[in-house]
Amino acid sequence: MAEKKKFLIVGGGSGGAILANSLTKEFDVTVINDTPNHYYWPQLLQIAFRNDYSNLYRPLSSLLLKGVNLIIDKVKKIDLQERTVTLSTNKNLNYDYIAIAPGVTIDHKSIEGNEKLVNQFGDFHSTPENASKVFNVVSNMKKGTFVVSVGDPYHRCPPSPYEGILMADEVFRLRGVRDNINLVLAVPYPRAYPAETFNEVLEPILKERGINVMTFFTADKVDVDNKKITSLEGEELSYDAAIVIPVHKGPKIEIKPEESINQDGFINADKLTNQILKYDDAFAIGDASTSANAKTGVTAHLQAKVVAKRVLGLDAKNTGRTNCPTELGFEKGTFVISDYNHPAAKVPANTINFIMKRLFADAYWDVIRHPEFWDPIFDVYFENTQPEILWKIFK
Ligand SMILES: Cc1cc2nc3c(=O)[nH]c(=O)nc-3n(C[C@H](O)[C@H](O)[C@H](O)COP(=O)(O)OP(=O)(O)OC[C@H]3O[C@@H](n4cnc5c(N)ncnc54)[C@H](O)[C@@H]3O)c2cc1C
Repeated sequence: MAEKKKFLIVGGGSGGAILANSLTKEFDVTVINDTPNHYYWPQLLQIAFRNDYSNLYRPLSSLLLKGVNLIIDKVKKIDLQERTVTLSTNKNLNYDYIAIAPGVTIDHKSIEGNEKLVNQFGDFHSTPENASKVFNVVSNMKKGTFVVSVGDPYHRCPPSPYEGILMADEVFRLRGVRDNINLVLAVPYPRAYPAETFNEVLEPILKERGINVMTFFTADKVDVDNKKITSLEGEELSYDAAIVIPVHKGPKIEIKPEESINQDGFINADKLTNQILKYDDAFAIGDASTSANAKTGVTAHLQAKVVAKRVLGLDAKNTGRTNCPTELGFEKGTFVISDYNHPAAKVPANTINFIMKRLFADAYWDVIRHPEFWDPIFDVYFENTQPEILWKIFK
């Protein structure tokens, strides 16, 4: 029997782990991950506003199928021309195929003063420790102005700032202090939500819940001594407690040739195929790649499936499908569903969508571990919830 080709996957997160488990029969698969645990990042919101750590992480080894080799180490260099990957120990690995999926680097320093702000009030885009600081703030604040402000429109999970402010509203109402707290959401866009169509769903909810929205406000500088955020557009916003969604950058890996990364370190990959430049043996998937039209786990998942099919000789392509379950507080939810050809559909807020979000969080680990069981279910789901169809239902 011919020897299996070597498939290296850098990063065992949402994209990398699903890709690895989808290729075990055909390839000799190795995953390199810099931590022994696989983190489910949406849980940061549950920690920040519910102190719920239940789905935060699982050992990566427990999620990968038998036959997948796992190396716990940090990749420091990838040379696409030489087909080599260099680990922190200076050990070199070679490959026949590579998929680069190391996610993002959170860069608090890009916004002056944000590091100090995060030390005080935390955030829900970086670490569980920072998310737990947010929980401390929302559990103790009695009056004043609580701000969620966006410093980087290309952050992970487009609806997450809205989920954050609405979940904060829920906590303050349940604690009976909401009347004394002014909630402000400051965003860089001309309206509350960047996609006009989905804004029609979200803006009335923000209004009804008494959340003040500041538009054209891209957080640029934080003055923690005077408790003020200044925007790129020149406006000032005072706060008593604030979270600035930090700048997201590409992975801290030296990737050669240099033209394979953009100025922020994201890997230049084709949006339809995930292929990197002219290298037909190299792919970038998920948050680390420029091919992700939304930095979400679902995008990483769908891209992993496209790459898995392509290396098996099928002509699979990304449709740009997004599927972001969005929690609105008080057991209501909606979904941001769009693709390259259709803007986000106007999926209404209801309890069923909230339950679906929760069910998905619980099923997440099984989805990674058992692609053969879940793939047909997702195929049916994605087929029947195409934006084209939803646009006809929710006008
Ligand atoms: C608050 C919040 C809410 C979210 N909500 C949702 C949601 O509801 N639905 C949704 O679909 N998505 C959601 N997301 C986004 C989702 O979590 C990410 O888009 C998804 O995890 C991206 O997958 P990935 O594989 O690209 O990266 P990751 O899952 O981040 O995995 C990258 C992996 O690479 C490893 N790594 C990094 N650098 C190296 C290196 N040098 N060497 C070796 N290994 C390395 C990391 O340790 C990690 O395991 C949310 C994110 C946040 C922060």
